[in-house]
Amino acid sequence: MAHPFLNLPSVVAIGLVVGSYLNVVIYRLPRGKSTVGGRSGCPFCGSLIRGWDNLPVLSYLWLRGRCRDCRSPISRRYPLVEVLTASAYALCYSFFGPPWHWILAAIFCSILLVLAFIDLEHLILPDRLTLGGALLGLLLFPWLPWRGSFGDHLVGLGLGPGLLLGLYGLWYALRRAEGLGLGDVKMMATVGAFLGWQGSLLTLFLGTLLALVVALAYMATGRMGLKNKIPFGPFLALGALIALFSLGSTWLDRYLPPLHWG
Ligand SMILES: [Zn+2]
Repeated sequence: MAHPFLNLPSVVAIGLVVGSYLNVVIYRLPRGKSTVGGRSGCPFCGSLIRGWDNLPVLSYLWLRGRCRDCRSPISRRYPLVEVLTASAYALCYSFFGPPWHWILAAIFCSILLVLAFIDLEHLILPDRLTLGGALLGLLLFPWLPWRGSFGDHLVGLGLGPGLLLGLYGLWYALRRAEGLGLGDVKMMATVGAFLGWQGSLLTLFLGTLLALVVALAYMATGRMGLKNKIPFGPFLALGALIALFSLGSTWLDRYLPPLHWG
């Protein structure tokens, strides 16, 4: 099912361009700015970014990571998000394949990437993405190549948030401290809507494991204590990405009820 225009190199190019737009969303959404229209400017000197300085990754390299006008450093997040988006899209294309099924996986990956990086910088997960993502997941359900039954995805919508809420309630009862946000709970609704309850469980398991490993590593080096806030969103996002590609392969069927019924 080869397509004359859609092939791995063009999918990577699409990923770089979309990644560049995701950077705009990551910067503007938490600041309450419109994510469409309006040219981007340097956050330090305000000068508008010229067309040739706005190319994914390449511009960062030839500007050597600095604004052309005021020489202020450009965040490394820009090339990083572009490369991550392109890599995720390449994986989506090879797992879910030509000609167009990969686009649904790419949409889910894009939401996860934006959530992860907004949470890293601002410790928030905007409702527009988490609740909007859950709604989008249900709307796209009939076309998801890895989908289970609609019931699987409806249960997934509630299971992850329910389990997290239970965990947070327990944490609150034990420590009388909040420390954990409702954004993560809503983010799990998105994951469940897209991946079903099976993918949701795998995401929670992997996300918690990854977060524990990183938190313990930081504590061991004395760089943080129990009082520090760490964003959970990036770990959930990474867990969900692994879960997505696990559903796209067959090994998971050995451990969980098969999702490929439809
Ligand atoms: Zn500048």
